[in-house]
Amino acid sequence: MQIKNLYKNKKPVISFEIFPPKKDGPIDTIYHTIDALKDLKPDFISVTYGAGGNTVNKTVEIASIIKNIYHIESLAHLTCVTSTKEEIENILSQLKHMNVENILALRGDFPKDPNFKFPDPLHYQYAKDLVTHIQSKNNFSIGAACYPEGHIGCDCLDKDLFHLNTKINTGADFLISQLFFDNEIFYSFKEKLNVQNSHIPISAGILPVINKKQIDHIVSLCGCHMPKKFIRIIEKYADKPEALKEAGIAYAVEQIIDLLSWGVDGIHIYTMNRPKTTRKIVESISTIRNVLTEA
Ligand code: FAD
Repeated sequence: MQIKNLYKNKKPVISFEIFPPKKDGPIDTIYHTIDALKDLKPDFISVTYGAGGNTVNKTVEIASIIKNIYHIESLAHLTCVTSTKEEIENILSQLKHMNVENILALRGDFPKDPNFKFPDPLHYQYAKDLVTHIQSKNNFSIGAACYPEGHIGCDCLDKDLFHLNTKINTGADFLISQLFFDNEIFYSFKEKLNVQNSHIPISAGILPVINKKQIDHIVSLCGCHMPKKFIRIIEKYADKPEALKEAGIAYAVEQIIDLLSWGVDGIHIYTMNRPKTTRKIVESISTIRNVLTEA
């Protein structure tokens, strides 16, 4: 099923993100992750696309496994900044052939390579250009990324929102947000979308923070705001890994319960390939999920 139709028929849509095994790692390890996630009945599972193209084939293969072996809807991420138009064409054909109907169309982060050229006529420049191309194929439901606090590469939220509205107008069917720790920022972001685009379903990206190292990495990557209550937890339990894990999971659950009460379209859990953590979160909201789905 195309994911855009999932959002029409169900609220909330619960989804998970996984990443392929490292370049030389065996693909089999991903089966353990999916095996452990499938009982949680996600509405779809998305598979990241490695920066630099290292895990490209694995993304296609894993998205196909999720769809055709596990019979769970899959969403293949695809970035244009490190793959040429020709390579993108090839991937789109593979996805169609494998009956993967959903793509998260992304620009991708710039590689650190000093010879990297942007813009480059061999590549689609921005995610919106990739969206336009995929849409011309008429085979896929297209998702795109959004940033409640603005994209880190954009100096002002209004400008980023302008580009986001263009991306939606170009043909994105649904959005998945960057992670955030302050729900109020997400609510205010949703209000700022152009009126004509306010209908687009948005899944809120939730990352359960379960260790200190992860936090430094996240902040350097997306620069998101950390509320005082979140900082207190990190500081208090920084040297107590088990306590930090418990508190991090509880924080994610609290965020999700608030988002669901607010009426969010979907929750997208960045699983980091840690099914046990994901299980704890999903089980904590199981009654609420049932109540809302039946409503
Ligand atoms: P765009 O929408 O193209 O925006 C990129 C920047 O360009 C923004 O600052 C925007 O304001 C600006 N911009 C857009 N259009 C224009 C224009 N016409 N003129 C000037 N400026 C413009 N990365 C990966 O490598 N692999 C993944 O699998 C992956 N999955 C992700 C999943 C989610 C849910 C999210 C939120 C991010 C993911 N990323 C992934 C990271 C993403 O690739 C980076 O954040 C990247 O820097 C931006 O991608 P985008 O698709 O949002 O780009």
